[in-house]
Amino acid sequence: MKYELPKLAYSYDALEPFIDAKTMEVHHSKHHQTYTDKFNAVLEKYPVLQDVPVEQLLKDLAKLEVDEKDRNAIRNHGGGYLNHKFFWEIMAPKKEVNEELKSEVEKEFGSFENFKKLFSETAANHFGSGWAWLVRDENSKLKVYGLNNQDSPLSLGHTPILCLDVWEHAYYLKYQNRRAEYVEQWWNVLKFL
Ligand code: MN
Repeated sequence: MKYELPKLAYSYDALEPFIDAKTMEVHHSKHHQTYTDKFNAVLEKYPVLQDVPVEQLLKDLAKLEVDEKDRNAIRNHGGGYLNHKFFWEIMAPKKEVNEELKSEVEKEFGSFENFKKLFSETAANHFGSGWAWLVRDENSKLKVYGLNNQDSPLSLGHTPILCLDVWEHAYYLKYQNRRAEYVEQWWNVLKFL
């Protein structure tokens, strides 16, 4: 089975003015396509892994029986494929507030504002390329942290709940060096909270 670039549930300009159409188009049709293609390329060498869901490959990353450079390729491009697929799904032009998640977040972090501040600071201050994550850890506790590059919380045994791409390709056309402003505006297109 080959992975295909996932279709978006909205048009490239649907998240304007917070995320501009050109950024969405390049991010989806070029960057995400490249992760998808390179992920397929490494899987071509391992027919036995082709029927294993990408989520499982990332969970089992450390114990996959592959060359080290291919493990790295699965980490980077399998991660890139899945992280972006998830990112498109948690954004929307219109909110569909998830009350259950919202009250859980309020309970865990004291208030929604506390959570928003923690997540925003994690995203804005992450050094270099990576993502900010809200996850459920191995004890089902909600946690916020940043991960480098395309690393997945799945490889730590955690379940992703929300993510924010802070690679420069995610915001540079519109926001240039103003990552904190991109992060602040992104809350407007987050689907669930
Ligand atoms: Mn990206």
